[in-house]
Amino acid sequence: MKADLHCHSTCSDGKLSPSDLVARAETRRVALLALTDHDTTSGLAEAARRAEAAGIKFVPGVEISVTWRGESIHVVGLQIDPAHPPLREGLAALRARRLERAARIASRLQSLGIPASLEGASAHAAKGDLIGRAHFARYLVASGHARDLPSAFRQYLAAGRPAYEPQEGAALDEAVAWIRGSGGVAVLAHPGRYGLEGPQRDALFEAFRDAGGSGVEVVSPSHGREDVARYARLAKAYGLYASLGSDFHAPGEGRRDLGDAVHWPDDCTPIWRTW
Ligand code: AMP
Ligand code: MN
Ligand code: MN
Ligand code: MN
Repeated sequence: MKADLHCHSTCSDGKLSPSDLVARAETRRVALLALTDHDTTSGLAEAARRAEAAGIKFVPGVEISVTWRGESIHVVGLQIDPAHPPLREGLAALRARRLERAARIASRLQSLGIPASLEGASAHAAKGDLIGRAHFARYLVASGHARDLPSAFRQYLAAGRPAYEPQEGAALDEAVAWIRGSGGVAVLAHPGRYGLEGPQRDALFEAFRDAGGSGVEVVSPSHGREDVARYARLAKAYGLYASLGSDFHAPGEGRRDLGDAVHWPDDCTPIWRTW
């Protein structure tokens, strides 16, 4: 069975509407699909309707921005109830902070000689209800300041680059509590992306498990073959279920399309076993 438990729509920084995203998943024969937009659940109802029509099992999800020991960490919530007030209010607060951060990114770009980027990025974010670096990156490409998306990050927006502004996320415990309180399960997203190793990485897994986390993304476009094996091992060691996702944002962007999951390890217990 093809499953994909991590992807984005125009409600956050993807390029396909929730309906178009589900239609693409249908074409690609995905049987189990979660929509996990950054810090918003506004696409879930539309995606669920389209999935029902397509006979796809739909999982309501979200990808929450977390700050843990100063690091940006992503926590995916699956089987959430978007109406749960603490979750709703928590996400609304994160989106408000994103607006303030976007203004700071724009003023950095301004001082680098790139004017009006807030307006430019906002135009790319117009179909959603939040703004992020991907929208700035698309504006930088469209306005000729960067050749492609990866270069926009490399030149300007990535951590340590001149237009970088961290996104102040939720506390780890808080994000997991919102997810669990809404009836969902929390999954540590793409752990291979954080640049944490050894004791630091162990500390994150421990903190996540102690906060009530249930799963970890083992298969992700951020993970090479060795990472997949490593996180399968860590999932077992910490008693976490394994999850997988393409982190799809747009056709032609990123490494994987919907439902692409290369080398899923045999000895993993998939998180959907619990559903
Ligand atoms: P933000 O949540 O606003 O900090 O933006 C993070 C998002 O930017 C990710 O979810 C990706 O969509 C995108 N992103 C981050 N790094 C890169 C990169 N190196 N190349 C392309 N997109 C990236
Ligand atoms: Mn994104
Ligand atoms: Mn992420
Ligand atoms: Mn993502």
